[in-house]
Amino acid sequence: RAKDGGRNQLQFYTEEMNDRVTERTLIEGHLRHALVRNEFLLYFQPRVDCVSGEVVGLEALLRWQHPELGLVSPVRFISVAEETGRIVEIGEWVLKTACLQAMAWQQAGLAPVPVAVNVSARQFRHAAFVQEVKDALEASGLEPRYLELELTESVMMHNVDVVIAAMSQLKEMGICLSIDDFGTGYSSLNYLRRFPIDYLKIDQSFVRDMLDDPPGAAIVRSIIALGHSLAFRIIAEGVETPEQLAYLKEEGCDEIQGYLCSRPVPEKEAAVLLGSER
Ligand code: C2E
Ligand code: MG
Ligand code: MG
Ligand code: MG
Repeated sequence: RAKDGGRNQLQFYTEEMNDRVTERTLIEGHLRHALVRNEFLLYFQPRVDCVSGEVVGLEALLRWQHPELGLVSPVRFISVAEETGRIVEIGEWVLKTACLQAMAWQQAGLAPVPVAVNVSARQFRHAAFVQEVKDALEASGLEPRYLELELTESVMMHNVDVVIAAMSQLKEMGICLSIDDFGTGYSSLNYLRRFPIDYLKIDQSFVRDMLDDPPGAAIVRSIIALGHSLAFRIIAEGVETPEQLAYLKEEGCDEIQGYLCSRPVPEKEAAVLLGSER
């Protein structure tokens, strides 16, 4: 028979698991209606060139405005959308909306910069994905060179040849590809060079710990060196302080993204960022 402490601990975990199941069920239920009820919107975060200081791109980040739940973070709902498969249609909406927005900014006379869209592994593996990208570009009239796709290392883990074929098709269209959250997955370095990738985005966890100790700094320096030797451009995510920026510049990082430059902002504020030469 379990001791009291053990039993309490068991109850504790069970309650926590219950909470998680309840949260998931709640999100899953509401998520079902989110698209038709028009509850999604995009925020945009600028990416800045380390040398020129100019805004060289915007990343589209999904937001969910729910009447009861409020503004729900993607951290809370993207994994649920992935598990249920709903990410495919949500991702299609993100693609279409981001392309339309980028085109609208260009037509308003703002500096044309590429917009980056996050693509989940499940969405990428969906057979119609490349066609969906073509449709989004066609519907908006956006030139492919103004679209970037951010993939995670998990995309590269299965069916390597199929993945490379799809990536190559996108590259031939003129679309840039990034590996997001680089360093957090398990991609083999030998595989990495086989993929037609343009950018590595250093995960923000490495940037956060970078100046705390020498090993932290060494990791970031190594990723930059590795990436450059494979001819990738390097973007550091989650840059919050001038000290972090200074170190990244010193190590030759190409671009940064983070609260230091701007938080993700709604469309109107993003337009202001594009309008201002910095
Ligand atoms: P991500 O693509 O790596 O996006 C970067 C995340 O870091 C964003 O969180 C952004 O708000 C946050 N961030 C940016 N700068 C800083 C900083 O200086 N400090 C800190 N602490 N955080 C910073 P967000 O918007 O909550 O998105 C979280 C994740 O959700 C994204 O990570 C991405 O993986 C996923 N996601 C967002 N939108 C989409 C989408 O449309 N489709 C898919 N499949 N995933 C998405
Ligand atoms: Mg991203
Ligand atoms: Mg990331
Ligand atoms: Mg992420």
